[in-house]
Amino acid sequence: MIIIPNIRQSVKKTYFILCVKKNPNLIKTKNIKNALLKSGLKSNDNRLYTLFQKLDTCANEIYYDDFIKIISSAGLLVEKTLRGELALPDFSDFSKNIDEMFKEVAKNKSGELASYIPPLAKVDPDQFGISIVTVDGQVYQKGDFDVDFSLQSLCKPFNYCFVLEKLGLELVHKHVGQEPSGRQFNDLTLLTRSLKSNSEKKLTSIPYNPMINAGAIMTAGLINSNDNYENRLSFVKEQYGKLIGWSAKGKFDSKFPRFNKDVAREENFTGHNNLAIGYLLMATGNLPGKKTKLKKDIDNKKDGFDFYIEPAVTEALKLYFSICSLEMTSTEIATAAATLANNGVCPITQSRILNQKTVRDCLPVLQSSGMYDASGAFFQEVGLPAKSGVGGGVFLVIPQLMGICIFSPRLDEQGNSVRGIEMAKRITSKYLVHMFDGAMTNADRIDPRIPISRWRANSCGEAIWAASNGDIRTLERLASEQKDLSVGNSDMRTPLHLAAAEGQLEVVQFLIKQGVKPVPDRWGGYGYFDAKNNNHDKILKELDKLNIKFLQPIHLVEDPNGKTDEVANYDDELMVSELLFAAARNDITGIRQLIAKGVPVHAGNFDSRTALHLAAAEGNLETVKLLINYKHPINVRDRWKSTPLDEAKRENRISVYNFLKKLL
Ligand code: GLN
Repeated sequence: MIIIPNIRQSVKKTYFILCVKKNPNLIKTKNIKNALLKSGLKSNDNRLYTLFQKLDTCANEIYYDDFIKIISSAGLLVEKTLRGELALPDFSDFSKNIDEMFKEVAKNKSGELASYIPPLAKVDPDQFGISIVTVDGQVYQKGDFDVDFSLQSLCKPFNYCFVLEKLGLELVHKHVGQEPSGRQFNDLTLLTRSLKSNSEKKLTSIPYNPMINAGAIMTAGLINSNDNYENRLSFVKEQYGKLIGWSAKGKFDSKFPRFNKDVAREENFTGHNNLAIGYLLMATGNLPGKKTKLKKDIDNKKDGFDFYIEPAVTEALKLYFSICSLEMTSTEIATAAATLANNGVCPITQSRILNQKTVRDCLPVLQSSGMYDASGAFFQEVGLPAKSGVGGGVFLVIPQLMGICIFSPRLDEQGNSVRGIEMAKRITSKYLVHMFDGAMTNADRIDPRIPISRWRANSCGEAIWAASNGDIRTLERLASEQKDLSVGNSDMRTPLHLAAAEGQLEVVQFLIKQGVKPVPDRWGGYGYFDAKNNNHDKILKELDKLNIKFLQPIHLVEDPNGKTDEVANYDDELMVSELLFAAARNDITGIRQLIAKGVPVHAGNFDSRTALHLAAAEGNLETVKLLINYKHPINVRDRWKSTPLDEAKRENRISVYNFLKKLL
């Protein structure tokens, strides 16, 4: 744990290590911008507006004092970015994975367009876009992310939030329930509740929840019910504008949602089912804004009568159809979803749009009812609150982390976007974001909140160190937490290798009893040879009992008596392990951040492996150059006396070999 004296100091330290190349006093302004953009922040981000303007107009290289002045408008955000502490610390790795999923899911052409609203049946069925916005305002977008599409039911949770804000939970739920309906989105069935009035019991009927049509028509009816249609629609548009970071100053290029009146009109013409729902709600007496004509207003014609349509019904439906017909892009909706993920504060403007309590009251209902009659199965598999609409949009909320919106118009039988659902499933099968993942032990799944190199280090580090130190207690705890005790480090060295190398007989016995199977390391070797090289005979006997043919590792040491440089000791083993993983992954930003946090560039692990060994073995020339730039010694030797040059040779990494050779 390092203590940061103050922000200026830490920005300076981190920043200098991150960006400085030759002259330690001068910083390239281009590098500041690149670091921010690479981490997923956008140049149209309101918070960075002033900073980017200054960067665009100042000199190409600036001194430290100017740097501090220039970043002052966004100091904390710059600090967080440079330290790798944004919501998604490994933005580029995350983006790469989502890119791959996108490519796979694009192949899925099943499902049908919504045909009951004619304009929706005319959209290009192949459209496919995804946007992800984190609570820190990092933005990932791909495909048709800037295409406007019809919100349809995506509006339901937001409308629910708007009425919760104005009327409060208790009043809203006198009109609509919070229960999953288990029925199709346009079902006419209502929920029966008993009401107590004057000690006598009365039954009342209300829609099951605000996420299906009946409930959404009711909530539309509740939005500023005493105002006129125009004002009510403008109010809603303005709220959406705030959710997506629209700014009155016009600095940010998100706009109000667009209203497609053709879609609204067609919904009106074809939405007989919704009209029926409207009247059903009227019949329950729970639809607000009842404006039944008074007897005195009735025009008493001689023959026949004035046919009368209840305005409370038409007004609720007109507003409902209009809001469903608003259009937004997937990036805008992902931003609104990120506002929900961020407890009601828009990540782009940092303004509070909804109360924390409103968001907390909305998300559980979204989770249990957002995907209509597929909500249960969807939540079981994906484990996130989500909402779909027949316009082909689906959005998901990962609380405290991000909002996601996928747009692809082909729908399944429940009216949910086929690709949207597939994408959501792939995201939770790769990332530990399911609400009930808890402390999952499966090392193949990744926590996106943690830099990937640290995640890898965490998933093996503790067990390996415990094994090499004979710390059975820790291993017992890890086993009781169901942790996988056979996970290897960046050289595929496992607890069994280290226990065997260090003569920890009890640990070897414990691991075998736990069912840990011996696996080969980077050099094809097993713990057996670690024990053999160090003459741990009792361990050899123990391993012989397994009746496995252990292969001999192949190490290369050109000149065992050659020059030897010292490997640094650093007592935060996990950070060392993270550094080695970062070097193996060619993760330049990760390496810089670790060095900025104080890890010596040539820190070695229990096998005396250093970042340079790993970068050389993996052929990561860029990392090799960076490490040398940071004065990593060249002739460091691992447990088997191999130098980074030996490693490059053994793995046939020609460019790294040539580069290192020249330095000798
Ligand atoms: N406007 C649509 C309707 O009422 C919304 C339905 C949906 O997206 N599931 O039918």
